[in-house]
Amino acid sequence: MNESVWLPDSDLDASDREFALRIRAFAAEKLLPHARAIDEQRVFRREMVHELGAAGILGGPLPKSIGGGGWTPLQIAIAHEELGAVCGNARGFCAVQSGLVSQCLHQYGSKAQHTRWLTKLMRGEAIGCFALTEPEAGSDAASLSTRADRSGDGFQLHGTKHWITNGGVADVAIVFANLDLARGKDGITAFLVELTANGIRRSPMPGIELGHRGSDHAVLSFDGVQVPAESIVGGEGLGFSVAMGGLAAGRLSVAAGATGIHRAALAAAVAYTEQRRQFGKPINAFQMVQERLADMLTTLHASRGLVQRLARRRANGTETPSDVAMAKLFATEAAARAAEESMLLHGGNGYTSAHVPERLLRDIQALRIYEGTSLIQKSILARQLTQKN
Ligand SMILES: Cc1cc2nc3c(=O)[nH]c(=O)nc-3n(C[C@H](O)[C@H](O)[C@H](O)COP(=O)(O)OP(=O)(O)OC[C@H]3O[C@@H](n4cnc5c(N)ncnc54)[C@H](O)[C@@H]3O)c2cc1C
Repeated sequence: MNESVWLPDSDLDASDREFALRIRAFAAEKLLPHARAIDEQRVFRREMVHELGAAGILGGPLPKSIGGGGWTPLQIAIAHEELGAVCGNARGFCAVQSGLVSQCLHQYGSKAQHTRWLTKLMRGEAIGCFALTEPEAGSDAASLSTRADRSGDGFQLHGTKHWITNGGVADVAIVFANLDLARGKDGITAFLVELTANGIRRSPMPGIELGHRGSDHAVLSFDGVQVPAESIVGGEGLGFSVAMGGLAAGRLSVAAGATGIHRAALAAAVAYTEQRRQFGKPINAFQMVQERLADMLTTLHASRGLVQRLARRRANGTETPSDVAMAKLFATEAAARAAEESMLLHGGNGYTSAHVPERLLRDIQALRIYEGTSLIQKSILARQLTQKN
């Protein structure tokens, strides 16, 4: 086996390699033993939240000055690849808790909001969620219809969000609502809402999800929920920028997580095709099998290259929306193909949860959808090239 598939990319310097191995050891010890069971039993594991907090992973992306880990964007990508390779539920949880909620709150929130929530979120003592999507507003998030009506010194929220990761278990949510629907996206405002407030109803998403079955996905309804003016995050009418800022942070995690899924799919395929014998030989002696392994390896490194390029450009301030879109688009689509090929190379065994590709194949589909579908990433890239909306 070529160790570059399994070990962190050789482009990393010694301290980032050591960092990757530390996250890998955590994932092997704390996540791997539960990864299959939480998927099969469809349970959200609260202990996982405490473990991620205690290991400094939830606070990792936040600055050291406030008790975070001060991770570089490259380290965020490395960590999310490692988590994604082992447990999509844990990686998805971290992306929401630390990316969409804590980082967003740190960037746009007030001092009082920081004091009240950031330490708890970083330690895993509180759970956060990011409530943007609505039944009638998905890719077109600017068309959201949740209203924030002025009421006394504050606002009353009315509307429904769905597909909210952690929504059923969270203590606090960043909720996007419009102060004046006639103003379109210029009316959108972000509110930090404690989910114990009167008028909030939560219910699980209807149906059974294809993947991410150890995650919590909820419908949140707001029926005249009173929130104070101080709950605004980032300023009146600035919610759309807050949402897009949060999503840009989150898309790095999604792309890196996809690289982890890709790596796990390839690792499983390499191991299985070495030990499985047909026609008197290991099946990895057949050229058509080898071709698939070679393609999976090449696209893995191409994905990782785009993800780490995005991270490096984020660190030096040269990132563009196209860098984010290319990394997310390529890494998620390549990982979906790799998971499918890995399942095929496992033959009938690939079709059951007793072997890992089946879960990878289901989990990866969500990464092609959330935080902007693959088609939306393509439309961002095409807009850049053609200057047409
Ligand atoms: C597992 C999971 C977790 C999620 N977690 C969260 C969360 O925590 N918070 C949150 O707010 N949301 C969350 N979402 C919602 C997610 O962000 C949306 O599902 C996603 O943005 C797509 O929106 P939609 O489902 O309404 O699809 P639609 O927008 O209705 O899209 C349907 C299809 O039309 C295509 N399409 C739409 N517009 C265009 C266009 N202009 N050009 C080309 N194609 C287009 C899309 O690409 C897609 O293929 C989650 C979703 C999933 C599946």
